[in-house]
Amino acid sequence: AQERYADLRDLPAQGLCGTTISLHMNAGLIADLPSLTGSGAEGVGLFRTELQFLVRNQMPKRAELSALYARVMDAAKGRRVVFRTLDIGSDKVLSYMKPQDEPNPAMGWRAIRLGLDKPGVLRMQLQALIRAAAGRSLTVMFPFIANPGEFRQARAEFDKAMERETILGHPLPERVEVGAMLETPSLAFASYAFYREVDFLSVGGNDLKQFFFAADRDNERVRRRYDMLESSYLELLSGIVQRCASAGTSLSFCGEDAGRPVEAVALAAMGFRMLSMRPASIGPVKSLIRRVNLLEARKIIDAARIRGDESVRAALTEWLAQQP
Ligand code: PEP
Ligand code: MG
Repeated sequence: AQERYADLRDLPAQGLCGTTISLHMNAGLIADLPSLTGSGAEGVGLFRTELQFLVRNQMPKRAELSALYARVMDAAKGRRVVFRTLDIGSDKVLSYMKPQDEPNPAMGWRAIRLGLDKPGVLRMQLQALIRAAAGRSLTVMFPFIANPGEFRQARAEFDKAMERETILGHPLPERVEVGAMLETPSLAFASYAFYREVDFLSVGGNDLKQFFFAADRDNERVRRRYDMLESSYLELLSGIVQRCASAGTSLSFCGEDAGRPVEAVALAAMGFRMLSMRPASIGPVKSLIRRVNLLEARKIIDAARIRGDESVRAALTEWLAQQP
């Protein structure tokens, strides 16, 4: 499939209106890295660090992790890599951790909740990232932040790790960015102060959609029942875009929906300027974005919303079908 889009590889995802969307790839393993050149991704918008923990049968050591993160940054050759700290719990269970018997693991002790309550692993991971990034840029993202307090606490852990490295006399990253994933509706309504505080936000649409519609993302019976293009969900996204714009905060979208061309056009039209997806989706998404005027797409979406369409999908796909 990538061959089909090879001609587009070095071209920007620029709509006919002139707006350019920055396309990044999701990754998590060393094996994903060659795709960085092949796909034409501008960087890694989501590096799921838990995959490295999931493929092992014991807790990795800090030095091992640090070497691995350095390899990822080397392979990226200066392109931005967003390292998401461990997102375990829920569906991602480590064989070497005591299993938690929770009735609702997706809403349970997972991701940053676990990281803040048992900070040993988070601290080790942050130290490994800081060491790997010595002298270059480091971008760290905390998963499943549900309120500003969690972000502040996680950022304090990061700052402490930086201080510790300074005291030890180790070289520090040249530049750091610390952001949060927006995966719960609560964060969409967090204060403007919070939006100004984070260096960037990335919408984790898989989780955000699951919690917005109260529909388990892994339950085949219900997961396709609700559409990302439903007007209510776009209303939620539009609020997030507005808050970020007024706070001057960089915003991206990194759930699976970003890799579906029609959904990607809708996200771009709604104001998302950065999308992160699996590498094979970059070609198809870029190809469609380059064929459309995103301002016109926005008009179609808004008209459907104003009309009261439950989902804008019909109107948008009909319009897309008419595009040359
Ligand atoms: C998401 O929730 O959309 C996301 C990108 O993270 P994950 O799929 O790993 O939960
Ligand atoms: Mg998620």
